[in-house]
Amino acid sequence: MFRPPRCPYRSCSQHLRPDQHFFRRFGCYLPKCRSQPVPRFRCRVCLRTFSRQTFRMDYRDHRPDLNARLFQSLASGLGLRQTSRNLRLSLRCTELKFRKIARHLRRLNLNLRGPLPEGSSFQLDEIETYEARRNTRPLSIPFLIETKSRFVVWAESATIRPRGKMTPARRKAMAEDELRFGHRRDRSRRSLRRAFRRAAELSGGLRRVRLETDKKTSYVGLAIEAFGSDRLVHGQTSSRLPRTIANPLFPINHTEAMVRDLTGRMRRDSWLVSKKRRYLDLGLQIFITYRNYVRRRFNFDRASPAELLGFVPRRITETEVLSWRQDWEASSIHPLAAGP
Ligand SMILES: [Zn+2]
Repeated sequence: MFRPPRCPYRSCSQHLRPDQHFFRRFGCYLPKCRSQPVPRFRCRVCLRTFSRQTFRMDYRDHRPDLNARLFQSLASGLGLRQTSRNLRLSLRCTELKFRKIARHLRRLNLNLRGPLPEGSSFQLDEIETYEARRNTRPLSIPFLIETKSRFVVWAESATIRPRGKMTPARRKAMAEDELRFGHRRDRSRRSLRRAFRRAAELSGGLRRVRLETDKKTSYVGLAIEAFGSDRLVHGQTSSRLPRTIANPLFPINHTEAMVRDLTGRMRRDSWLVSKKRRYLDLGLQIFITYRNYVRRRFNFDRASPAELLGFVPRRITETEVLSWRQDWEASSIHPLAAGP
């Protein structure tokens, strides 16, 4: 039997510190999309009503039955348009579902992680892509993983300056962009700092923090800033070495190859493109969830990266990651708690 963990209204005193008997049962209703009735409740303090559905991620959704398939499709390299064709949804509906699901998954990603076990280590690298216009609006994405489990700790995009060969056409395009959007700043340090901070949050209990990167000089200072120089063991490998399985950076290179494959908009020579950086970041959250909680670490493994690190007891299915709302941080209902 479902028990509401709190009053869902933020202004109510029973939202943050609910009493044991803050609610009364208040009948039920039969939604079109389910065969079982959904129980309703009434808060004894603010007297407002809510239901079990208020605590679900698909609260107020149209076609909630398609959410898991939509997630699966976007986590398999298909674009928004092809997904909307396959699911017989409008493009707009697919876009809005994608954003809602990805924002939910960002919270889930942050809620389910915990302190890393002793012996954990990190690898970091940056990959380049672009928003809307390839020759003038490049982006850099730092990817930070836990090496052995391949758990993706963080990835988010940052604007960078266009570089490389400058043709007259490219200069003209850059001048147009500059007029429209202003000077394009290099924000890659900011996103790197954020990635390191996410790793530092998980590694508070580690005696040694092992980090592997390539030889970019700015990583040294940022890593010391995040982990402290007394704990940090920073190994650097030249990015000129062949990217084979013998390369010490193979785990991060492999993860990057996977994100390029499973996130259609990051493929090379693809029709798909991110128009805006913030939606690319949402797309990355879809990949991170799929990689960390749904997919096995390797094809011969049974466990997911998060399971190997002890964050969750088993792999989580596409339906389960989209079950309970995650907007109450650690006190959100766990995605593996019994569902309707
Ligand atoms: Zn209330």
